[in-house]
Amino acid sequence: MPIVFKNVSYIYSPKTPFEYEAIKNINLTIEDGSFTALVGHTGSGKSTLVQHINALLLPSSGEVMVDEFVIQPRKRIKNLKGLRQRAGLVFQFPEYQLFEETVEKDVAFGPKNFGVSAEEAMKKAHAALQEVGLDESYWQRSPFELSGGERRRVAIAGIIAAEPRVLVLDEPTAGLDPRGAHEMMTLFKKIHDKGTTVVLVTHDMNIVLRYATHVVVMKDGAIVRESDPISLFASDTSEFALEIPLLYQFAKKLQDRGMAIDLTHIRSIEDLVSQIKKGGVRK
Ligand code: ADP
Ligand code: MG
Repeated sequence: MPIVFKNVSYIYSPKTPFEYEAIKNINLTIEDGSFTALVGHTGSGKSTLVQHINALLLPSSGEVMVDEFVIQPRKRIKNLKGLRQRAGLVFQFPEYQLFEETVEKDVAFGPKNFGVSAEEAMKKAHAALQEVGLDESYWQRSPFELSGGERRRVAIAGIIAAEPRVLVLDEPTAGLDPRGAHEMMTLFKKIHDKGTTVVLVTHDMNIVLRYATHVVVMKDGAIVRESDPISLFASDTSEFALEIPLLYQFAKKLQDRGMAIDLTHIRSIEDLVSQIKKGGVRK
């Protein structure tokens, strides 16, 4: 089932002088199996929105539906653990949330918490660690002696070890070097290809172009645009101040200069190269 937001608003510190409505009347459907990117300025409400998906925040009004779970104002959720297993959320800078004394214990915590046996949890932890590229030599180490990038991988392994059906990622590549960011996105693509729905908050339009099937643009707590990435970049985005991916700009220039480039099929450098190779120049 898709994830559905119905008229969702969220107010921080209600009825205090600090009261602030961070998201306003959000209506959004996140389709099963999609790779949905959520973009927009800092402060536009992206993190607030995604934290509703696993009920870290409950709406101030409206409701969110995730499969059989209904997330409503001031209502305790039946089987909250079940929801958290179904929808795994990787925070911004998740590496700050590690707490166990070894890497493998930290990663096994999630599945164990969701009810699998200690032995099975450890198996899942090891598989998840392999998947994020941390081999056996890491498993007995303390998370605190690892580099920032490695710690982030441990945190992500902790979420994927629970095998969520929906993976929510809040700026997972922020602060990583380009190579680290690329490796991480390759991992998320692999997880998506296996059928997991991915919701990704990002500022990086190159990532949006390459991976997303759907983009949601937020501004001042509201959704101002929804589209597929190519249509978004092809349209006038000046009011949202989004950066246009370099690859798209380049392909567009080639097209403007008369090359037969099909912009709807350019997501990677390889796509562009193969079109140039067979395309030739329009007469
Ligand atoms: P984004 O992720 O797009 O940067 P956020 O959802 O973090 O946006 O924040 C949206 C707005 O809500 C911002 O103006 C932010 O200052 C405010 N906000 C976020 N968290 C809190 C909080 N815990 N208390 C009060 N205001 C908050
Ligand atoms: Mg944020």
